[in-house]
Amino acid sequence: MARNRSGLYKVMLTFAISTIGCKLNQYETDQITGRLIDSGLRKVDYGQPCDICIINTCSVTKNADRKCAQLVKKTSLKKPKPIIAVIGCGASNPDTKIGDLNPDLLIKNEQKDQASEMILNKLGIGISKGRYYSSKTRAFIKIQDGCNQFCTYCIVAHLRGVPKSRFEAEIISEVKSAIKMGYKELVLTGANISLYKDQKINLSRLIDKIISLEGDFRIRLSSLEIKGLTKELLSLAASPKFCKHFHLPLQSGSDTVLKRMNRDYTSSDFLSAAFAAREFLGEDVALTSDVIVGFAGETEEDFTQSQVIVKKAGLSKLHVFKYSPRKGTKAYDFNNQIKELIKRKRAQKLIALARVLRDNFIKQQLGKNHRILGEKFTDGKIEGLTDNYLKVRFDGNKDLINQFIEVELTKEDYGLYIR
Ligand code: SF4
Repeated sequence: MARNRSGLYKVMLTFAISTIGCKLNQYETDQITGRLIDSGLRKVDYGQPCDICIINTCSVTKNADRKCAQLVKKTSLKKPKPIIAVIGCGASNPDTKIGDLNPDLLIKNEQKDQASEMILNKLGIGISKGRYYSSKTRAFIKIQDGCNQFCTYCIVAHLRGVPKSRFEAEIISEVKSAIKMGYKELVLTGANISLYKDQKINLSRLIDKIISLEGDFRIRLSSLEIKGLTKELLSLAASPKFCKHFHLPLQSGSDTVLKRMNRDYTSSDFLSAAFAAREFLGEDVALTSDVIVGFAGETEEDFTQSQVIVKKAGLSKLHVFKYSPRKGTKAYDFNNQIKELIKRKRAQKLIALARVLRDNFIKQQLGKNHRILGEKFTDGKIEGLTDNYLKVRFDGNKDLINQFIEVELTKEDYGLYIR
């Protein structure tokens, strides 16, 4: 039972929350969820009848905008209609026009820290500060927000504002409490974590402090710009508490395209970073990346360069995005926008190459021992991730959930496949 502002008990209110987009959004969803639960609300699955539906939106591509708008429309048709709160990047980007769908609450990124208060206010309930992580084994820890790199294709820097780092002490306290709650994998996340800075504490120093904490846990980094992959960080990455996995966004293998994207590195800088990671950590380190195909003005030659660099870097997984012009970014007004059909063909080609690279990495890992964190139990099998980001399924039991298990990766025995 929840108590309202007048101190009267009433029937427990329910909420559902849907998250579209990045790990940072997932973290923010978890924080809102924790506060709502702690304030007496009950969480139900999205789609179930409830009092309030919260949609944490993404606006990174047109496709993301479409998905968010569809969800708002679908939710509005529910009978009885719940209160609808739309929050995040989609709510902050005027180009999405999501406000025209008349949600009851439209909460922009700059108000996100007060999102739970605003939602509870709407329901007439006071706030309590609880922590919550949607996964039972993995906790996303936000260390910073915002970016000032202004890549010409990226709307995120416009929607999330200037870089703001959380205080080191606040992060350490959250990490300690996540470890105490039993979380075994902590994912440090942000809009651009390479920009982390709290006075003299940069990303490496922060990581050093985290891995020095007691407990049986490991940390993983979300996306990291290559300038963040310093020698200092690579030497810390040798710790058994550090997942041997770096997600380094490449975006393009062509130097002319990188320049037009306002990325602050060349393709050889990217390769040097990838080679340095291998030199420090050995061939088992997983290097994953994002590549945009069909950026304005991308020629066949530029696209070929992307394939060359992806191969040379020996990436184990690739997210391929078709360039999606976002109003409000510089590249939106660039000439030579690429036809959809060409983008699609390039994407298909790169996805096929990514599969080959993934299979090569898997082959190279067979017969090796890895520590897996058990995450899910279905049909007599435990599923989990190795520290180098391979998804593995093998015979087990429920008790192995949230436990580290040493296994030898054998395709036949373990049904190994990459996430
Ligand atoms: S560094 Fe990342 S978040 Fe920042 S502008 Fe570039 S793509 Fe966007």
